[in-house]
Amino acid sequence: MIDVEEARRVILASCPELACASLPLAEALGCVTAGRVVAGHDVPSFANSAMDGYAVRAADTAGAPLTLAVVGTSAAGAAPGLAVGPGQAVRIMTGAVLPAGADAIVMVERTSSAEGNRVTIEVAASPGDHVRHPGEDLRAGEVLFGPGTELGPGHLGVLASVGAHTVDVVPPARVGVLSTGDELVAGPGELRPGQIRDSNRPMLLALVARAGCVPVDLGTVPDDEAAILAAIERGVADCDAILTSGGVSVGDFDYVKTVLDRLGEMHWWQVAVRPAKPLAFGTVEGVPVFGLPGNPVSAMVSFELFARPALRQMTGHRDVFRPEVPAIADEPLLRRPDGKLHLVRVVATPDDEGRIHVRPSGGQGSHLLHAMALANALALLPDGDGVAEGGTVKVMLLT
Ligand code: AMP
Ligand code: MG
Repeated sequence: MIDVEEARRVILASCPELACASLPLAEALGCVTAGRVVAGHDVPSFANSAMDGYAVRAADTAGAPLTLAVVGTSAAGAAPGLAVGPGQAVRIMTGAVLPAGADAIVMVERTSSAEGNRVTIEVAASPGDHVRHPGEDLRAGEVLFGPGTELGPGHLGVLASVGAHTVDVVPPARVGVLSTGDELVAGPGELRPGQIRDSNRPMLLALVARAGCVPVDLGTVPDDEAAILAAIERGVADCDAILTSGGVSVGDFDYVKTVLDRLGEMHWWQVAVRPAKPLAFGTVEGVPVFGLPGNPVSAMVSFELFARPALRQMTGHRDVFRPEVPAIADEPLLRRPDGKLHLVRVVATPDDEGRIHVRPSGGQGSHLLHAMALANALALLPDGDGVAEGGTVKVMLLT
């Protein structure tokens, strides 16, 4: 048996970061920057108004209340050209160019219109009032984001504000997902006695998407050497990583083993963890392949423990593991010593003081996917007798 940390170490050592690519902003959400990202120009690139109101010379307003002559209107998007002379004001909208000669904005709420195209200024302005200066947000050449930054919606907005169409990132990995098993039926068709539906493939495709990668459906194949071989070869040609489920334990028809051993350098592990004990990992022509167990809960837990951190590393993320935090067990989480780490599917809920409380989400058998679906965390019970009600337990948050 191998422990979780050792298996993770071997896996991460074989899953290098993907080569950088230039992606359009619309495709870069969640990607990680490959290098420093620099501002192409100042933001704002011209002095403009932060308010709807009147552009004035601040010195002219010293004796407010008083009236000024309105000599024009500056709308957002209109080219510069207007000027404010002594005793004058220009009606101005938020984002419009500050007219030449003006050095302050009086907000419209502090004015009233007066006879003969004049405006009454009710309070004196100071130079710079409500003026946005060029480069106040960003300077041309300034480093916006360092390498390793995960791009969220705000980052994409900043990139758009400096005129970037594309950004150099570690691209999302294409991850192939293959289900194996003679008993599996894909989709809603009739089940003959002995058959079950393929739940792992839709689940793993979704886990891949949630991990920020591109899911590639390699289908459902029977326990047949030629069919498994063809599907894995297709995956190796088209994907950056492959996930298979089923056929990696010690059953008689586990041809995944035969095929992967022929194609690549594989480890066949019994990991000291429950669920998710059997795990195959290796590379085929440099493509990492994860042979996940067939039991649906084991497949999902194995993805979380081993495949997700590897995919995160391949896609340039610095934080590859799910957060682990202390929680209070609202029900006993008991177990027997067996040399393994036990993962209990739990619902984690914060209380008013921000402490996290956990209770099991349902049955803990590795075929009981419903309780896994209801869980939002895994309680980590090290070898021993578990945790009594009210005790503290470390949990891995899945959301
Ligand atoms: P195996 O790892 O192939 O021995 O499968 C272990 C258990 O998981 C068996 O009960 C299988 O029927 C079940 N299983 C395997 N693959 C899937 C799948 N894609 N969807 C649902 N159950 C599966
Ligand atoms: Mg099987």
